[in-house]
Amino acid sequence: MNDKPNKTDTAIEYLKGVGPARAEILKSELQILTFEDLLNYYPFRYYDRQEIIPIAKVNADMAFALVRGRITSINTQGQGRSSRLTAVLRDGSGSLELVWFQGIKWVKEKIVGGQEFVVFGKPALFGGHYNMAHPEVETVQQFSERLSEGTVPVYYSTEKLKQKGLDSRGIAKIMQTALKTTEGHLHETLPDHLLEKLQLTPRATAIRNIHFPADEEAQRQAEYRLKFEELLFLQLRLLQTKLHRSQKLKGLIFPDVGSCFNNFYTQHLPFELTNAQKRVVKEIRRDMNTGAQMNRLLQGDVGSGKTLVALLCMLIAIDNGYQSCMMAPTEILAQQHFNTISKMLGSMEVKVGLLTGSTKSAQRKRLHEQLESGALQILIGTHAVIENKVQFKNLGFVVIDEQHRFGVAQRAEIWKKNVIPPHILVMTATPIPRTLAMTVYGDLDVSVLDEMPPGRKPVKTLHYYDSKRLMVFNFIREQIRQGGQIYVVYPLIEESETLDLKDLMDGYESIVRDFPLPEYQTGIVHGRMKQDVKDYEMQRFKDGISNILVATTVIEVGVDVPNASVMIIENAERFGLAQLHQLRGRVGRGAEQSYCILMSSYKLSKDARSRLEIMVKTNNGFEIAEADLKLRGPGDITGTQQSGMMELKIASIVRDEALVTLARRIAIEILNEDAPLTLPQNERLRRQVKKISRVFGNWGLIS
Ligand code: ADP
Ligand code: MG
Repeated sequence: MNDKPNKTDTAIEYLKGVGPARAEILKSELQILTFEDLLNYYPFRYYDRQEIIPIAKVNADMAFALVRGRITSINTQGQGRSSRLTAVLRDGSGSLELVWFQGIKWVKEKIVGGQEFVVFGKPALFGGHYNMAHPEVETVQQFSERLSEGTVPVYYSTEKLKQKGLDSRGIAKIMQTALKTTEGHLHETLPDHLLEKLQLTPRATAIRNIHFPADEEAQRQAEYRLKFEELLFLQLRLLQTKLHRSQKLKGLIFPDVGSCFNNFYTQHLPFELTNAQKRVVKEIRRDMNTGAQMNRLLQGDVGSGKTLVALLCMLIAIDNGYQSCMMAPTEILAQQHFNTISKMLGSMEVKVGLLTGSTKSAQRKRLHEQLESGALQILIGTHAVIENKVQFKNLGFVVIDEQHRFGVAQRAEIWKKNVIPPHILVMTATPIPRTLAMTVYGDLDVSVLDEMPPGRKPVKTLHYYDSKRLMVFNFIREQIRQGGQIYVVYPLIEESETLDLKDLMDGYESIVRDFPLPEYQTGIVHGRMKQDVKDYEMQRFKDGISNILVATTVIEVGVDVPNASVMIIENAERFGLAQLHQLRGRVGRGAEQSYCILMSSYKLSKDARSRLEIMVKTNNGFEIAEADLKLRGPGDITGTQQSGMMELKIASIVRDEALVTLARRIAIEILNEDAPLTLPQNERLRRQVKKISRVFGNWGLIS
């Protein structure tokens, strides 16, 4: 490869065919600033002539369709912002409506009645007819010219880009130019030894073939190489960050296990720790004493006893003269932790505070003072605890509970809360799939609570259609007769809150009708109720006064009632897997057999059906997490936008699991031998890591 100073960093406006106006749009729409950025903008699919289908075959399930036909009519309707352009495309088999809401002037110039066009877009069914909104349109001649050069790449484009002529075809055109212009200047980023060992396509070839592959094989190889490269650099950065922290950043040293911990352990612990809990506490204690900052992920299924582990570690921090802080994702959960922990500590002289968004300002002020003076030793709260205003005297330990939203960059914010960064324990309620743990949390050490507290029977899960309600109600009666308590949960989804609330109230009324007083006591809890009313209802259920609690998902992370043995989830098809698993975790906390009953209508989407099937099949949180990732993709699960994963342009942690693992292994091998990447054979790696860190920020250099 050619290693001389290169053209690839040239500003995109200087590429022939681009210029300042297009450069501006490329920058604002796609963050493309240089030739190189453009070359790294990959097509999301390809097509060739064989894919053209008769219009009659088009259906709404298709992600995309490629058709060919004549424009038989063109119509403009409306004025200004609400105007739209429709055209009818017809082939021998049928017709299809094409619709544009924007860029109408430009489209009008382009499509001409009576002429033949090739059209590519997403078909939709509207009023009994198929249409395509904002399809890509080109003349048959244009299409043929492009095909003669091989497979045609399809690029994602936006309205603004299209208005500047940069639809998929326009992008392909400047891509060709960029490839020609940079020929011989594209740097290799991987060392030769790696290319040989893994038989990877050289970068220049891969870039050319990802855009304009001669055949499928060439395209596949290019994709493999680029995915691997992407994942390797992500791993190198994560692992270097981890190394840097453990070797260079000073960490607090907690040598003592003192009176606080011991007193609690011997006098206040209501039960024996599980072996898993003991092991994890040991792992954390070891971390707290190495002189490096701890960054540990604690994975453990719902009910495995993570809160207690966190509390024990907070006590160690106190024994060493430091404050602790515990952050939960919701107010209810923060409140619950506050209650549990205050109760567990009982008469011990440890001062615990609660800070959430709804803390009154007088109380807030008092908390701030006590934190700064050091009088308050444990602060529990929501995100509010890491706001800038909140200053600690000496924060030594931070627990982040049940969150999926914190990537490296966010955790780095917390490091700044003390001169020497506090130790950090991240706890997840829903186990994280392996690939995700390796990427989003790839810079953390991992502990696993793989054992449940004794005496728990796995929850039996059943799925019934609504028509079986009578049978389910009989089952409830039987359970209550035997002394059990029942949750009935309804979904509450923000967009249709009023409707959901009506569902809940209807459900509640029908239950009250079917389970009349005085034999059955039924309570209700939902998010619109005042806190004291909510507390009152919860307490009645906890005390065993009410037999049935009708609730929205407010209970998802809320209550701990060991006597509750049945969880009925209404409209279960509307819940996500992680949520269903969390809800199920509310029962099965006592010694008797518990049940989770998923109620749904007959009409189920394919995904909803899979979710319910998985729930019935397994209680294993790890299996559920894997399935969830496959069904939903990583974005929803982790809020990946914030976690550093959005850097992934081509690899997918869902589909490329094997590659994620390979990249991690190779990165570890390389760094074991040459952590700073200073050996000559790793020169290319070092340069590329530096370049990426310039763009995305350097996780290692905090404070
Ligand atoms: P999670 O891991 O889901 O956060 P919790 O910390 O809420 O689990 O614990 C679930 C329940 O198990 C709580 O009621 C807690 O008091 C109880 N628990 C925790 N550890 C043990 C133990 N070693 N033996 C018995 N019960 C335990
Ligand atoms: Mg918990």
